[in-house]
Amino acid sequence: MINEVAPGATIGILGGGQLGRMLCLAAARLGYRTHIYCPDVGAPASLVASCTTVASYEDPVALAAFAQSVDVATFEFENIPAHALELIQRAAPVRPPPQTLRVTQDRLAEKSLCQDLGIPTAPFAPVSSSDDCPGAIAATGLPAILKTRRLGYDGKGQRLVRSASDLESAWMDLGAGDCILEGFVDFAHEISVVIARGPSGTVATYDIPENLHRDGILRESRVPSAVGGATRETARDIAHRLVAALGYIGVGAVEMFATKDGTVLVNEIAPRVHNSGHWTIDACATDQFEQHIRAICGLPLGSTARAFDIVMTNLIGSDVNEWRSYLDDPLTKLHLYGKSEVRAGRKMGHVTKLSVIAG
Ligand code: AMP
Repeated sequence: MINEVAPGATIGILGGGQLGRMLCLAAARLGYRTHIYCPDVGAPASLVASCTTVASYEDPVALAAFAQSVDVATFEFENIPAHALELIQRAAPVRPPPQTLRVTQDRLAEKSLCQDLGIPTAPFAPVSSSDDCPGAIAATGLPAILKTRRLGYDGKGQRLVRSASDLESAWMDLGAGDCILEGFVDFAHEISVVIARGPSGTVATYDIPENLHRDGILRESRVPSAVGGATRETARDIAHRLVAALGYIGVGAVEMFATKDGTVLVNEIAPRVHNSGHWTIDACATDQFEQHIRAICGLPLGSTARAFDIVMTNLIGSDVNEWRSYLDDPLTKLHLYGKSEVRAGRKMGHVTKLSVIAG
């Protein structure tokens, strides 16, 4: 029996970035209060939350007090230490469950889960010492990408490896820690499945966007994507199997590569609402943020039906200075995250260009 967390309750959110901000806004529409926990003063989510605790993710006293003050807890950022979530779980349910993070925080565990489920990925091998290098290259072929197993995001902690002699220096360059070497995938499209799963196992997915990255950062998501129906079905099936295997609760995203021959390979699982789902705010009956709140509170999932074709573009760094020009188009929706300092590579906002679906 799943207890519903009813409106009026307080939802705790670890992390104070734009994802937390959009979760707070969705929660407020449903009548919930929100409590942000993050290490920074004046974070984007704090500007719209009911209250904020500013403390370290390693502070057990602050974490315990936060846990006492919330009815359910979630996170907007996958690098929260899993032990912090386990501590919170002693006082309040944490959704997605902390064990999900133990898998998704480690690229090797994530890819091994796919392998166990028979889900294709790029060929991969662990690299934790110089001795691992020759065997890893034999497993992945060249070119390959060396990635840190933990704490990488937006293309950080990655090096392209073109020759066997590159690998050891790339590994040293990344700090000579636990890494994973992946074969380079000559993909035709990058896509993602944004998927919601409720506590009783009900699942809903959104239309699949095609994602364009530059310098490892998402630039643009488009729906409909150029990938065919069979590829989309394969991608959806993979996402369903992964969330079921993880016992996932909430909205998450599975980032994938689609090759020219229609093979779908999993690149990464994001255990949280996702940048490639921001367009759902303006184009769908229920956006990913409301869907996450519904899922973690044990409420029925909403329809993911889409009313517009869309192109979502991130405003990165100084792109945000052009904000006024987007408003000249009445079908472009502007979202700004309230970040006062513009920095290169920093996600400052996004715009969603809507097109009325013909017919
Ligand atoms: P990640 O941090 O793993 O999501 O990687 C960031 C971006 O690097 C991806 O969105 C891809 O564009 C690219 N990338 C990552 N892994 C691979 C791979 N094995 N083959 C080709 N491109 C990759």
